[in-house]
Amino acid sequence: MTSSKDPVMTEQLPIIVAGAGPGGLSAALAIACKGFPVLLLERNRIPMEVGAGIQISPNATSSLKEWGVWPYISKLAVKPEKICINSGVTGARLSEVSTSDISKRFGAPYMVIHRADLQQALYHRASQSDLIEMLDEREVREVTETGNGVEVRCKLANGDHAFYRGAALIAADGVWSRIRTDYFGNSPAAYSGKTAWRATLPIQMVPKSIDSENVGLWLSPKAHLVHYPIVSGHMMNIVAIVDEDWSEEGWNGKGDGVWLSKRFSRWPREVRELLAEREDWLKWALCGQDPTQPWVKGKVALLGDAAHAMLPFMAQGAVMSIEDAAILARAIDEIDGPIEQSLQAYEQARKKRVCQVVNRARHNGRIYHMRGPLALARNLTMQMLPASQFVRQFDWIYSWKPEQVTFTV
Ligand SMILES: Cc1cc2nc3c(=O)[nH]c(=O)nc-3n(C[C@H](O)[C@H](O)[C@H](O)COP(=O)(O)OP(=O)(O)OC[C@H]3O[C@@H](n4cnc5c(N)ncnc54)[C@H](O)[C@@H]3O)c2cc1C
Repeated sequence: MTSSKDPVMTEQLPIIVAGAGPGGLSAALAIACKGFPVLLLERNRIPMEVGAGIQISPNATSSLKEWGVWPYISKLAVKPEKICINSGVTGARLSEVSTSDISKRFGAPYMVIHRADLQQALYHRASQSDLIEMLDEREVREVTETGNGVEVRCKLANGDHAFYRGAALIAADGVWSRIRTDYFGNSPAAYSGKTAWRATLPIQMVPKSIDSENVGLWLSPKAHLVHYPIVSGHMMNIVAIVDEDWSEEGWNGKGDGVWLSKRFSRWPREVRELLAEREDWLKWALCGQDPTQPWVKGKVALLGDAAHAMLPFMAQGAVMSIEDAAILARAIDEIDGPIEQSLQAYEQARKKRVCQVVNRARHNGRIYHMRGPLALARNLTMQMLPASQFVRQFDWIYSWKPEQVTFTV
């Protein structure tokens, strides 16, 4: 294929990616795998050690395999057998979803991993590519369209500024994206009224009453709790999500373990024992964005949380950013026209699906935190419905594959 975007012809103008989170690193890898040069700019030092555990479902694992990330991930990721859903009020088992069945049916694993391990794996794979240049401590402050591309102004750690030219800018600068608000004029992320409290625990400290090999999900009015093994099964990731009036920006706010234990003091004994093991918690405010606003303006596109940050009730935020990356790279490679057209094709191919996932996550949030008769009805339904049938409602999410997508632009 020869076009104005032929990799050979654009040798001097890379695609610039802002942000080295799961979305930005995936975009860099996916674009480089198609033969295009990439310049990745990150405001912090990379690789970074932020975040908590994340679940990665089959709709993302196939892309990670294709990009050659799998060997780096497979040692650290854990493939749990099942997700055990419990009442956070009575402790009763509500359902047991087989994740190995999901993996079998969709031909790619369902796994849990520390976000930092995922990022490290993407970073190491990207470091091996001659087509990817990664520069850290460069905060993208301004973007200007030029005749044949974009010019990006970055603030460096020492306060100086540096300028970079590229064929296009992919803004993967996360939920608090400045490019989203300043360049697109889209609305900023809105606080959901919920905070996520996170801690990790060496696996030998996990109380015997807790199943440390599988995913545990506990549902209760105005709060829920998730735990699962990470780091080859050596650590347990614990995330408690509560309704709370606190909305600071960032991934590393300090949480008071005494406050959290008090908040969960009426929960089943197993949960109280688990929470009591840790006093130092990190917390962050859960924010969402309106995913229907524009993702593409000329030669600039939003990707991942910058485009569509969602609440974590479907465990699909990072997964959607990986899907975005796969489709963006295909659009850049396959659309025979100017780069603007490829970016538009990417937005059109992704938006409907992402909006459906965002809505489903919101819906799950309401189900998870139900109270009174509604919670009783939910519990009864979960207990009556065979788990294999229960999980089939998510087939449309997990069965997705990048090659199924067709472009309409
Ligand atoms: C409690 C919780 C649980 C979650 N669980 C899951 C899960 O199980 N599964 C799942 O798939 N997802 C999960 N998510 C969501 C997931 O963490 C996010 O969707 C994912 O991190 C988004 O990746 P991203 O690369 O788009 O953004 P980010 O991870 O936020 O990365 C953005 C990057 O851009 C950098 N940056 C910001 N501004 C600039 C700038 N101006 N210039 C240069 N660099 C910049 C930042 O430093 C950062 O490195 C969860 C989220 C939360 C809060």
